[in-house]
Amino acid sequence: MKKHFVLNLIFLVLIFQSLSAQKTPKNVIFLIGDGMGIAQVYAAIVANNNKLNLERCTHAGFSKTYSSNNFTTDSGAGGTALACGVKTKNGMIGMNSDSVAVESILELAAHNKLSTGIVVACAVTHATPASYIAHQINRNMYDEIAADYLKTDIDVFIGGGRKYFEDRNDGKNLTNELKNKNYQVVYNINDVKAIKTGKLVGLLYEDQNPKMPERGTMLPDATMAAIDILDNNSKGFFLMVEGSQIDWACHDNNIKEEIKEMLDFDETIGLALNYAEKTGNTLVIVTADHETGGLTILNGKFGSDDMSASFSTKNHSGVPVPVFAYGPGAENFTGFMENISFKGKLEKLLKLKK
Ligand code: MG
Ligand code: ZN
Repeated sequence: MKKHFVLNLIFLVLIFQSLSAQKTPKNVIFLIGDGMGIAQVYAAIVANNNKLNLERCTHAGFSKTYSSNNFTTDSGAGGTALACGVKTKNGMIGMNSDSVAVESILELAAHNKLSTGIVVACAVTHATPASYIAHQINRNMYDEIAADYLKTDIDVFIGGGRKYFEDRNDGKNLTNELKNKNYQVVYNINDVKAIKTGKLVGLLYEDQNPKMPERGTMLPDATMAAIDILDNNSKGFFLMVEGSQIDWACHDNNIKEEIKEMLDFDETIGLALNYAEKTGNTLVIVTADHETGGLTILNGKFGSDDMSASFSTKNHSGVPVPVFAYGPGAENFTGFMENISFKGKLEKLLKLKK
């Protein structure tokens, strides 16, 4: 009798283990720190007294960021690699290097009836968000990129760039077209937070969002508002969030601004991780499209943003960037990987059909 009980118990433990090993995510929150290399992360860890939310991620790796025609990628080719799983030429959006449009992971998720969203700390037409939704030969074609949002089934997008929808060279007002497609279009963060269901567009700034601290809690607030809406779908969701201005601070070689942008991004990461912890069915990935500034930290004091930081360029560098993961499927994002490997892995984990 006792022996049977023990055997049954072992059997149950084995079944439970194999079930949890096969666990796949229902939702994915993919957070991109534009320009965020390991030194950008560490500067914020030091300034924040040796602690960041992203340290709660259980798995880590490195992503190789070179593009199809350049050792050092830009955010167009870098974003396209993450979104669409193809190396392309610098400056291109959602296309392979032969200028053929390639479906993004967000578009594929939408075709599979998952809810989808984009939340960024820049204009929604900028290169990184554009890579998930648009297919254009050049990242500067903001009017065309805005129009591409209308061609998708995205549920929520929030950021700046109102003028590319409403003050366009072709004279069209895309907001009217968005409303015809049942989007609720709002222009400030309080209105974003008040909407709990349906499709939502938040165009919070004319062009680019202001930097920190002027931007306040826009990025974490908009991220939570998006999750609130997207998780109404029982099939799950894919949400891309970008800490867009880490890159810009590093182009300016300004370490204090880099830290402010990084801490804002990390607060957002913390909310995503809280949601993943609470639900148990959400994969959180944090990575970058490339490193910016060739940053190194030579000396510093924990709890202070006064540090000896050295930038080696005003542009991007070619070094790999860190990848952090948490939640079901996180074990697929360790070691060295190509930036084009994310789409295929997520496609498999979310069981998306082409
Ligand atoms: Mg970007
Ligand atoms: Zn840049």
